[in-house]
Amino acid sequence: MDLHELDQILADRGEPAFRARQVWAWAARGVRGYEEMTDLPAALREQLERELPFSSIAAGEEAHSSDGTLKALFKTHDGRALEAVLMRFRDGRRSICVSSQSGCPLTCTFCATGAMRFARNLSASEILDQALYFRRIEAIDHCVFMGMGEPMLNLDAVLEACERLPDIGVTHRRTTISTVGWIPGIERLTESNMPLRLALSLHAAEGTLRSQLMPVNERYPLADVVEAARAFYARKRRRVFVEYVMLAGVNDRYEQALQLARLLNGGHGRRPSSQPIFKVNLIPYNPIAAEDGRPGYEGSGRESIAAFRAALESQGVPVTVRLTRGRDIAAACGQLAGQSV
Ligand code: SAH
Repeated sequence: MDLHELDQILADRGEPAFRARQVWAWAARGVRGYEEMTDLPAALREQLERELPFSSIAAGEEAHSSDGTLKALFKTHDGRALEAVLMRFRDGRRSICVSSQSGCPLTCTFCATGAMRFARNLSASEILDQALYFRRIEAIDHCVFMGMGEPMLNLDAVLEACERLPDIGVTHRRTTISTVGWIPGIERLTESNMPLRLALSLHAAEGTLRSQLMPVNERYPLADVVEAARAFYARKRRRVFVEYVMLAGVNDRYEQALQLARLLNGGHGRRPSSQPIFKVNLIPYNPIAAEDGRPGYEGSGRESIAAFRAALESQGVPVTVRLTRGRDIAAACGQLAGQSV
């Protein structure tokens, strides 16, 4: 629900200050509507029912993957599309992937969201309502800002939402903000008192290639971005995830793995890995619908990914290969474009 409007309505009624907290606490616990908020005066419940939509975003189609992943489409009150995903892992983790913008103004050439038109920033309530949607289905405990949009371009709303995520079950330490490397945003996150995690979409360890994949690299070059991430670690002592989407014949060669290791090892060769600053997450590429004027990419095969991983590990760089979830419902990384399936 729109929490600012809620405050307004409560203030106009002359309600006591604790009312807003009361309403929020119920919502954060996953109730389905005002009628379940049994300790609110009935007249207030009725007024809220009439005047304040319980969710600031309208849920549309849902898609269920065979691996348990659930994708939900939403529309804002002004008709903007967004998507969010719930991932269920075997170890019991329930992780949601939320959008910070409808569309994205950046134009990473391999990303479906980057190819759609940018609509606007989402409000903190619109972000939280994605989390609440899933919370009404089941308990959630992790959140990644890896849906549509660049969180650092909407950081006020993102941080405002993060302040409240613990009420919904997601602690700051289990919340990850993923960025293309928007340096002012990384710096703000470094200064923030919340112990949030940072993920950095790198995808190339050398400037020319990175600029081809991610035009934002022209504005915030690789070396400066890595420096900003080091500063984040120095202040927060929270390891930074480096995301690296594996594109066949583009960024998946052995020498490129060594180059990435050198970059992350601070220009050195192999390092004793007692306290690595970075952990690389290799992401199998999720193909996106081809469109005019966009280069087509193919994902690296299993063996190339395994070899790339081994090369990084030989240099002392911690690596994981990301499980692809929800590919059959176009819910995997980079596939969110606000379209139904
Ligand atoms: N704008 C932020 C967060 C959204 S994207 C960022 O770029 O980090 C979340 C991750 O998915 C990013 O690492 C992004 O590069 C990656 N991604 C985008 N398109 C993809 C695709 N088609 N296949 C796999 N990963 C993709």
